[in-house]
Amino acid sequence: MLTRPLQLLHKHRPTLLNPSIRLSSTAVLDSTTEEINHAMSKAASAFPIFSSASTGQVSTLLHNIAQEIEALGDELIDTAVSESSLPEPRIRGETARTTGQLRAFAALVEQGSWVDARLDVGGGTGRDIRRMLRPLGPAVVFGASNFPLAFSVAGGDTAAALAAKCPVVHKAHPAHPRTCELVSGAIKRAVSSSGLPEGTFSMVQGASPRVGQELVAHPHTKVGGFTGSLHAGRALFDIANARPNPIPFYAEMGSVNPVVVLPGALGSKWEQIAAGLAGSVTLGAGQFCTNPGLVFTTPGTGCAKDATMVSKFITEVARHVDNIPPSAMLTEHIHQEYIKNIDRMAIGVTKDIQIKTKRKRGSDSGGIVLHVSGAVFLKHAQELQEEVFGPSTLIVEFENQEQLNQGLVQLKGQLTATIWGNRDDFQQPSFSTVLQLVTERVGRVLFNGFPTGVEVCSAMVHGGPYPASSIDETSVGTEAIRRFTRPVCYQDCPDSLLPIELRDANAHGIFRKVNNEYTTEGVLVEEFTKKTVV
Ligand code: NAP
Repeated sequence: MLTRPLQLLHKHRPTLLNPSIRLSSTAVLDSTTEEINHAMSKAASAFPIFSSASTGQVSTLLHNIAQEIEALGDELIDTAVSESSLPEPRIRGETARTTGQLRAFAALVEQGSWVDARLDVGGGTGRDIRRMLRPLGPAVVFGASNFPLAFSVAGGDTAAALAAKCPVVHKAHPAHPRTCELVSGAIKRAVSSSGLPEGTFSMVQGASPRVGQELVAHPHTKVGGFTGSLHAGRALFDIANARPNPIPFYAEMGSVNPVVVLPGALGSKWEQIAAGLAGSVTLGAGQFCTNPGLVFTTPGTGCAKDATMVSKFITEVARHVDNIPPSAMLTEHIHQEYIKNIDRMAIGVTKDIQIKTKRKRGSDSGGIVLHVSGAVFLKHAQELQEEVFGPSTLIVEFENQEQLNQGLVQLKGQLTATIWGNRDDFQQPSFSTVLQLVTERVGRVLFNGFPTGVEVCSAMVHGGPYPASSIDETSVGTEAIRRFTRPVCYQDCPDSLLPIELRDANAHGIFRKVNNEYTTEGVLVEEFTKKTVV
């Protein structure tokens, strides 16, 4: 238990240039080293008990957490709205997503096949080798400021770690500490009513990097899950790797999510794409890791060979963005960074960038559309694809397909890329190169859509090559559970000593790979020459 009450200073203050927009600012007291040690020791003590919990107990825990969060009702909604400045419908939607994620993991655990059981038994050698995924141990989890619920205390990482039977110590985000406290209380009540040890879940608070750094370096920590900026994610990843015993540290970080508009689509759907793009760029004041911050266009040789088509498109995107009123950003610090980053792009990197919106600076946190030629982009490709966390996008006008491909080659790892094209575009011989270059660089390829909005399902990939993620895995969807596990192999182990998932009978009827064939059947012991007989 944390030994002293959380102390918070919570105040609201308006931005300087637009007093109608209110930003929340909160100060929290950092958890001490002793409190961090205490939380980690409790997690380590809970691990042997929690990792032996039955499937039913784990699924009950996840359902109970969802119910406890729902029971918080309007207090949770009001607190999250007030701390984040995000609108109430968004917070209600995020709460539903959070409880939905917990229930999706409960269903995964109940079904059971996720443990990826494989049995190589019998055969000429009489071998008996069985493996499955087992929990790694205590996990530390960091939430991001822009999702005070779905990527926070009971967010995807916590749900995945608990489903894998890893105790969790959560580092609360200083941008929404009261929301974190409410959700932490809900999880603790659920842990207690599910009959699990107290150390199954703890939370520490902190507004200084020390807290997170101590958690990752702590000897009891066996795995880390992080959502946030490249700067913080990379710093913590380096700590995880510099430990005497390095641990996996799964950091999901920023991305500019390029959108490639192919000539046919530009010619026939430019108005639709412009309107949709403007909405996606400005959604949630652009504070989404999937915000489309970079757009590649080319006049090509199709119906849009007229280069004025590209200009018309850019003007239309800017017109839509100008018409979307600014909304409050999550914190004053994020707002100041947005202003700085727009100035850096428009003045600092190169003078050859034009701002196409009426709004030229990020002062009121409204949307901004920037434009640059393909040649200039190629000269400054690294700086011009740094994430600007806020409602802006840079449209690059390449001269031809070859130059577009050079731009794609320059892309760093991304969470997503989107391709807008029509049938003609997709039938061009050059298209396979575009698709190949994009696929190599991203975790999710979208067609004729927009990247904001991430479905929570088993096929989702929300991750990507570095720097989108520190390790290229997904943090959204049920597949995220694998990050909190490691494979363990049992050789010639007596049946009664095996985890239930690997025993002959296959009592839960899960999918297993038995001698290279998937089956839900048990194995008939007599069919195999078992070396060890109980
Ligand atoms: P952030 O500033 O990186 O904060 C994330 C966490 O890291 C906080 O708990 C923060 O706590 C801690 N932290 C920050 N600097 C640290 C350091 N040097 N050492 C140790 N810990 C440190 O990120 P954010 O402002 O919350 O979120 C915005 C960013 O998250 C954007 O870049 C956005 O794209 C990204 N994001 C990514 C995803 C994804 O799934 N890929 C989802 C949402 C957001 P302290 O402030 O107390 O240090």
